[in-house]
Amino acid sequence: MSTLFVGGTWRDASHGGDREIRCPADGSLVAVVAEGTPADAHDAVRAARAAFDDGEWARRPELERAALLDAVADILVRDKDTFARAESMDTGKRLVESEYDIDDVIACLRYYAGIGGTDSGRVVDTGRTDAISRVVYEPVGVCALITPWNYPLLQTSWKIAPALLAGNTFVLKPSELTPSTAILLMRALGEAGLPDGVANLVLGAGPRVGAALTEDPDVDMVSFTGGLQTGRAIAAAAAATVKRVALELGGKNPNVVFADADFETAVDFALTAVFLDSGQVCSAGARLVVQDDLHDEFVDELVTRAQRIRLGGPFDPDAETGPLISSAHREKVAAYVATAIAEGARLRCGGGPPSEPELANGWYYRPTILDDCASGMAAVEDESFGPVLTVERFSDEDEAVRIANDTRYGLAGAVWTQDAGKAQRVARRLRAGTVWINSYHPYVPQAEWGGFGQSGNGRELGPTGLAEYREMKHIWHDIDPKPQYWFSK
Ligand code: NAD
Repeated sequence: MSTLFVGGTWRDASHGGDREIRCPADGSLVAVVAEGTPADAHDAVRAARAAFDDGEWARRPELERAALLDAVADILVRDKDTFARAESMDTGKRLVESEYDIDDVIACLRYYAGIGGTDSGRVVDTGRTDAISRVVYEPVGVCALITPWNYPLLQTSWKIAPALLAGNTFVLKPSELTPSTAILLMRALGEAGLPDGVANLVLGAGPRVGAALTEDPDVDMVSFTGGLQTGRAIAAAAAATVKRVALELGGKNPNVVFADADFETAVDFALTAVFLDSGQVCSAGARLVVQDDLHDEFVDELVTRAQRIRLGGPFDPDAETGPLISSAHREKVAAYVATAIAEGARLRCGGGPPSEPELANGWYYRPTILDDCASGMAAVEDESFGPVLTVERFSDEDEAVRIANDTRYGLAGAVWTQDAGKAQRVARRLRAGTVWINSYHPYVPQAEWGGFGQSGNGRELGPTGLAEYREMKHIWHDIDPKPQYWFSK
């Protein structure tokens, strides 16, 4: 299968291997794609290196690069259905959710297209009339972009849009489970007129193909979105050649609900916070931290409504959420729940696959609520990345903040209260890159996204998401040079 894209050419894997992509909703065959090798990864880096060093892309005016992003966005508008269906088939998520994702991809491309050419650095006061000092931006160079399976094209767009705007070339390595939209994206970039070698695609297993990219000395930067363990491995591998590394990792995000919150709205959002996309969301509100007085009524209502959530495949009009990504992932989630129960958590609902025969061929897992959780339990500390909510309780504001911040992660969180002062105080004290007040999940491409703590070390989106792909250069220009005679003639 010629699904590797290297130097402007579609090609097979160097050893000729393939991989079957199967829909997690029913196990049906979606595609057969090339299973790349480390040799393919290194070839792709050579192509990106040549396009960066010898091509004109990095020197092209930024406004022209911005126009290309707009052209890609136009193609996605035209082909939205194709992209959304491909995303749903790979991930198993509902078509409507994939359509939202493609809309968000388009918004990201448009945002970076829109800020193109608006910031070319700054002029610094040298204190002299005969010297000009400027700080300008340069592209970082060859970027390895490594992405996960939960929002395949969306996470990719957060990287490729700023990387291209800044004038970089790249090698994209999507998750081996969800490569289809990355293949479509390469075609769209070509149709929009991107020069050969600027965008390259390698597919295959992370520990082989991804690791080859992070180790390759010709890669200047690795931008990675994925799990904490992989992030640690990538940071260690990249250190050998002192690459720039941007890590966007997991989360164990607190959803803090005070007793004075609007009950109906807070319940509704608490469900979306954790069960959207069956919990396979890095910013999922997987830790409910609820005030004592509200606990019983709130959790009872959550349990009642979680039990009603309808599971189904991408094209089931009645489905409210879909399957987990794979059999292995479902086993991981099941083991996580078993450990939680062994640690003393009380299973209130879910805790296993659904019984409906029509779901038997998919990797479904029922929405699960674990009550009586506390700091120190693995269930509270570790990301399940599945439809599992842990419940902890607090008595006052200080305790709420202490529990919410008691995590190695720091990606996102929310606070629910009708007291605006308390909302602001708690929002400021939460150690997380995104905090929602009386809401959960909205984001905009204009605002930075990223984590405190072990949720990562970078920021995507917003102006900082572009800065990640830029080097800064100071240019000093003596316009009337004369000898200094520091050393005598
Ligand atoms: P993962 O870490 O298993 O894989 C992510 C990518 O890394 C894949 O392309 C994989 O092939 C590759 N990879 C695996 N081992 C590698 C290695 N040794 N060297 C280089 N590349 C390697 O993560 P996943 O299971 O695909 O995604 C789920 C994780 O992603 C969750 O932890 C989730 O929280 C996180 N995530 C974070 C964000 C964010 O914005 N912070 C967004 C989405 C997902």
